[in-house]
This record gives sequence, C-alpha cells and structure tokens, in this order.
Amino acid sequence: MNKAIKYRIYPTTEQADKFAQTFGCCRKVWNLMLADKIAYYKATGKSLQTTPAQYKKEYIFLKEVDSLALANVQLNLQSSYKAFFDKKRNGFPKFKSRKHTRNSYTTNNQKGTVAIIDDKYIRLPKIGKVKAVIHRQPDADWIIKSATVSQESDGTFYISVLFEFEKTITQVAKSDNVIGLDYKSDGLYMDSNGNIGSNHKYYRESHKKLAKEQRRLSRKVGSKKNQTKSNNYLKQLKKVNKIHRHITNQRLDNLHKLSTEIANQYDVVCIESLDMKAMSNKGFGNGKATLDNGYGLFLNMLEYKLSDKGKYFIKVDKWYPSSQLCSCCGIKRKLTLADRIYKCDCGLTIDRDYNAAINIKNEGLRLLEVA
Ligand SMILES: [Zn+2]
Repeated sequence: MNKAIKYRIYPTTEQADKFAQTFGCCRKVWNLMLADKIAYYKATGKSLQTTPAQYKKEYIFLKEVDSLALANVQLNLQSSYKAFFDKKRNGFPKFKSRKHTRNSYTTNNQKGTVAIIDDKYIRLPKIGKVKAVIHRQPDADWIIKSATVSQESDGTFYISVLFEFEKTITQVAKSDNVIGLDYKSDGLYMDSNGNIGSNHKYYRESHKKLAKEQRRLSRKVGSKKNQTKSNNYLKQLKKVNKIHRHITNQRLDNLHKLSTEIANQYDVVCIESLDMKAMSNKGFGNGKATLDNGYGLFLNMLEYKLSDKGKYFIKVDKWYPSSQLCSCCGIKRKLTLADRIYKCDCGLTIDRDYNAAINIKNEGLRLLEVA
C-alpha cells in the first residue's frame, strides 16, 4: 500500500534558490523533450525517445540539479503522451510556462537519500536537510518511495512524502472493545462513553478572521470594468488564501488526531451512515456547522485507519431510530429536535446524543454478530 503525507517545510534562502532552480530545470527539460518529440514526429511520423541526459551537454546548468527530478519529468511526459494516445481523453501535452505551471518536482529515495531526520528535517538529494514540521510520523515499517517538493502561489513550500508499506493485519478485532459515535452538528460527535469529540475552538476564531479579511478583499475590487487587478487586491487575496489554507490544515490535523486515537483504541467502531447533504438542506441543526465541521471526512479517515489495522467499521442504517430508542429499556418515543435530554419512564435521564451513541453501538454490535 502507498500513503502520502504532506509536510510544511521552511527552506533556507539558499535551499529556496535551489528549489527554484530545480523547478526551472524541470520545465526546461520538459519543453526541450516535448519540442524534439513533436519535431521528430512531424518529420518521420514516428515517436522519439528522449532522455534528460541528452541535453546536459548543451545546457550545462541541468547538471546542477537533482537528476532524479529530471528523470521524473521524462516519466511524466511519457505518461502524458500515453494518456493522450491511449484514451484520447487527455489533451496533448502542453509546453510549461513559468507563469502558468505549478512549481514542483519529484525525486526518489535511493537508500536513504530522502529521509525524515530528528523529527524536524527532511533530507533531499542536492538540497540537504530542510527544516520541516513533522506533524505526522510514519509507522516504523513504512518506507519512503519518493518526495514531491512544491511551492504555493503565496511562496510557501511543502514536501509530499510517499510511503510504501505492507498491509499487515496484526490485530484481531475483539468485539468487546467497541465504541459508538453519534453525529453532533455543533461539534463533531458524542461517543457511547459520553465523551465529546469536537473541532478546536480557534477554528471558529480563524473563521472570524477570514470573514474580516474577505470583506477587506471585496472592498479592494476595482469599480471599473476590465480594470487590471491592483497590487493591493492581489496582496489581500494572498492573505485570504493563506487563512483558507490555515483553516484547512487546522481542521485536517484535528480530524487526523481524533480518528487516529479512536482507531488505535477501539477494535469496533459503530457509526450511523448519514446523508450530510440532506441534513444541511433540512436545516438539521446549524446548516453551516453541518457543512463545514468535516464529519464526512472524519468518517472516511476512521474507515481507512481501522481497515489498515484489520478492525471493524460498522455503519448503522440511517433509518435506524437511534435517537428515539431508550438505550436502557428499548422503548421507542418521539423526540423533537429541540429535546436535548432523553427522559424515559424507566427512570433513564440522559443527554440525547449520548443515548443515541449507545444505541448506535448496540445496533452495530448486533449487525457484527449476524454478519
Ligand atoms: Zn427506558
């Protein structure tokens, strides 16, 4: 199996220059090879095989950058060609301009040439140790295959590291180590032990900041038609994009953290399959919260993390009346959305979502037994 993890990196000025040089050389090699292929095809009707090495005599600067980065350009160009001729779906490979091409290159790990070092650096060929935020550590048996360095439009750098590992099922799931999760529109979930999983509070703070900067941005749009976008506008746009990325990262980090904890701790996780879109349309809870709290993404993460470990992810049908049943005596009663506390004649008084989470857990276990 393969898994990619994207890390934020902070190159030194020297390293950033080297990245820029490598991006440029990759574009150059792509364009040289593409031009030769086209010319050769026009002249002979046959396809030409080219390699980056052929250009190194004429363009000596190509020797200064990571040769694997250039080799990957060759592979990418080949697969673009193949995609075009096989499927006739993709467009013909295009020349890459400095302006309209994403700054990135991919290199490969050859016996440790790409490595994560001391939890704070990533080593790359021709670059050395680059300062990185290692927000997620690979498992001990994961092997680095390749790394893709990229630069966003705001100038920030990232490395996406591709890992390869054997999918081994080491743990045998035990059905007594089980948890149920009920969706919470104003948080993320309530579990069957009564614990709440939620998004970080500063997540909302970031949203306030975003709204403020977006208002500023809209004020900077020129009034005249076809007016070129001003420097101030572009500057503000960068600022807004940066906050967007920050929010996305915050959310992803938090969802990863919560889903990893649950997947490590429990062998069976029961959830209620939900139609997120229908829910927000119906005004179930706060529509905004429903859409942006990332519950669907959280469930996806949970599913693959449990599956990696050979554990169970059980979906209880969305029509199962999880909030209406008493988790103590099993009697069904009508609740309105406003009822936050579930009160039963049997004496049970319990938080509505907590009650639902217990029911989801029990129903999930029943499904596991009949399966
Ligand atoms: Zn009851």
